[in-house]
Formats: sequence, C-alpha cells, structure tokens
Amino acid sequence: MKRNLQYILPLFLFALAACNNNKEMNNSKSDNALVFPKGEKITNDNFTGTTYLHMLIAADSLNATSIGNVTFEPGARTKWHSHPGGQILLVTDGVGYYQEKGQPKKILRKGDAIKCPPNVPHWHGASADAAFVQVAVTNNDKGTVVWMEKVTDAVYNSLNQ
Ligand code: MN
Repeated sequence: MKRNLQYILPLFLFALAACNNNKEMNNSKSDNALVFPKGEKITNDNFTGTTYLHMLIAADSLNATSIGNVTFEPGARTKWHSHPGGQILLVTDGVGYYQEKGQPKKILRKGDAIKCPPNVPHWHGASADAAFVQVAVTNNDKGTVVWMEKVTDAVYNSLNQ
C-alpha cells in the first residue's frame, strides 16, 4: 500500500496542479482578454440568435475593404448570403461553423482562417455549444453583401465534415 502511494501521490499532485492551472486560465478569460471589442448587439434581421458587431475599419473611396469583429453566442448564425468581392474570416475565439451552398458544414476554431469566394452563397456562425468570434475582412469593390434566406435548424444541425 505504502509503495503504491509512492507512485500515486505524485500523479495526484500533478493532476491537481493541472486542474488549478486550467481554472486560472478560464478565470482570466474575460472580455478584456479578447483582441477586439465585442461592440453592439446586432438588431437587424440578417442574423439568427444573439450577435454583436464592432466595426474596426469602414470601407471608403480609397479602400473598399471593411473589417468587422463579430461575436456569435452559441447557436447564433448569419442568414445565407454572398459577397460580390469575397470575404476572409479570421477566427479569434471559440468554435463555429462555415458552410457553402451544396458543401458540408466545416468546423472553425480559434486560429483558423477561411476564404469565402466571390458570389458563393454561404453562412457562418457559432456552434451549438460554444460562442464564436470572427474578424470578417470583406472586399466591397464589386458591391456589398447580398442577403438570402434564413439557415434552418435542420441545415444548422446537419452532420459536420
Ligand atoms: Mn460571409
């Protein structure tokens, strides 16, 4: 018994330390730890669920690129839509989904970057269980976003690939 303890005790202490470490990391993760501000709640009809937008860069006559930080609470997502000049999504936190029409849904995680080709209908949003934060870099050279129908629960809940 004493001999077993010799092996088990260090393992137990190590596990305890790992748990504490994890707890500290979770506790320190407040809104302040996020790279960009969360911004204001989006109130228009182009999203399902609760979403927030902080515009970082607005398009202007010299540069047609707009950059916005979008936060999706679990289950929240855009409607189907397309961008005439395409879009790039940079994932800064959480777990989310991206799907192009006719393609399987992809899982996006913090650190992922994805390119939405011009005029391809798609949607993006949070996973069912975790929030999702993305920086959307949109080229408005050829026009702004074209909104389509809502993403149904059946599509949203379809199997991931
Ligand atoms: Mn998009």
